[in-house]
Amino acid sequence: MTIAVVYHPGYSVDLGPAHRFPMHKYRLVYERLAAEGTLAQAQVLQPEPAATSDLRLVHTHDYVTRFLAGAMSAQEMRVLGFPWSAPLARRARLATQGTITASLMAWHHGLACNLAGGSHHAFADHGEGFSVFNDLAIAIRVLQRDHGLQRAAIIDCDVHQGNGTATIFANDPSVWTCSLHGAHNYPFHKVRSSLDIALPDGTEDAAYLAALQMHLPVVLERFQPQMVWYLAGVDPYQGDTLGRLALTLEGLRQRDAYVLGTCTRARIPVVTTMGGGYAREIEHIVEAHAQTVRVACALDSM
Ligand SMILES: [Zn+2]
Repeated sequence: MTIAVVYHPGYSVDLGPAHRFPMHKYRLVYERLAAEGTLAQAQVLQPEPAATSDLRLVHTHDYVTRFLAGAMSAQEMRVLGFPWSAPLARRARLATQGTITASLMAWHHGLACNLAGGSHHAFADHGEGFSVFNDLAIAIRVLQRDHGLQRAAIIDCDVHQGNGTATIFANDPSVWTCSLHGAHNYPFHKVRSSLDIALPDGTEDAAYLAALQMHLPVVLERFQPQMVWYLAGVDPYQGDTLGRLALTLEGLRQRDAYVLGTCTRARIPVVTTMGGGYAREIEHIVEAHAQTVRVACALDSM
């Protein structure tokens, strides 16, 4: 078996010069993994844009319609953090379908990666913090609808709290949300997840990994998820401009290996999504995201 890696060239769109979001990282991660041969071990799938009926499993009719039509107010787009464009709207649907497709592949085969996704600041009726549609929540709703998924867990290791995801599943006992994030980071109003692990500024590899090793086995044991959605944001990195934590590249790699290894050893299917990464050096962002896929491919060939 080779794992599925889902990618579309439309994951990267032009945001104009000087935008702080490194939108070209998606293409660069794909190109690096292809050039080094990692993707030769994987099955690369290209998603279609997600169906609006799937988007509406989580989002309001009004929000989906207005976003896709470009009928958002200037204020709404400021909160989202992106300028609206038709390619951006298409990108949001592609990235969402990428997570749905990767989730279906993981459900059937154990492990899969989307080279985008992790839009955990998207709420049912609005987007914020660079998150248009909550791909993780939508993929979970699709698997509930089509495949009888009864217990899902989200392990959110992006350095920012998964406030949209926590709100969407706040009163839903079928989905366990776990967020490991910087205590003093955006969003400044934290929403309660099933489990929130708030880390102090400057947290380094050892303390971060210890927190993960203390909590992840308990989540898996207590909740017994049938599948795990892993949000592998690389913004806990020490060089991140928005992160406030101090993990090294090796620490991030050990994090990925621990989460993916623990799930696969427990025979729980797991899907990875990329999440944030805002290091000054794009090279570091790309390498950190590429590591996640390398770790997944290496686990699969064991
Ligand atoms: Zn983030």
